[in-house]
Amino acid sequence: MSASIHDLFTHNRAWAAEMERTRPGFFTSLTKQQTPKFMWIGCSDSRVPANQITGLEPGEVFVHRNVANIVVHSDLNALSAIQFAVDMLKVEHIMVVGHYGCGGVMTALAGGRIGLADNWIRHIQDVRDRHRSLLESLPQDKRGDALVDLNVIEQVVNVCVSTVMVDAWAKGQKVTIHGWAFGVHDGLLQDLKMSVSSPDEIEPLYRAAVESITASRL
Ligand SMILES: [Zn+2]
Repeated sequence: MSASIHDLFTHNRAWAAEMERTRPGFFTSLTKQQTPKFMWIGCSDSRVPANQITGLEPGEVFVHRNVANIVVHSDLNALSAIQFAVDMLKVEHIMVVGHYGCGGVMTALAGGRIGLADNWIRHIQDVRDRHRSLLESLPQDKRGDALVDLNVIEQVVNVCVSTVMVDAWAKGQKVTIHGWAFGVHDGLLQDLKMSVSSPDEIEPLYRAAVESITASRL
């Protein structure tokens, strides 16, 4: 299970050789350009590897990951990745993907302190505070999962209201922003029914998605 740093190169050489053996020309075709249809905005957590859990190959998904899959309005890193994906790569789908048992979300829920990252996690506490009455209406053991879902739903909105998406939709570009959650315990992705394809869909989909969090957990 645990690999040494040397093993990584051994695995890499074996993987590249196997790819070339079963799919001759695979890497040559990748050098021409990347044309992914999908962008993944996920958590840095090692248990949630975008390509592996979606069966996508190199070249098929453009990935941005950070602690607890947050899209902050002024985060140039996330915004630059989104802009590149939308304007240059012309991705058709952006999925914001949270995962149950997320350390960042659990810390935010408990109000714990871990260091510098507290300032980053503060964004999830804002989500927690915005939905305090909803969370308090749920049994204690369901609140963590509910906050994972709420965080995804809020981050989908943040992608939708970014200047990148506002401008892309205004030009008639077809891009849909999705909200998903991954179960580390069963390996399954859940669709949080927050798939937004235009600005006027944000509000009604947001309301319905938040309502269904309560409904599914009482
Ligand atoms: Zn996480």
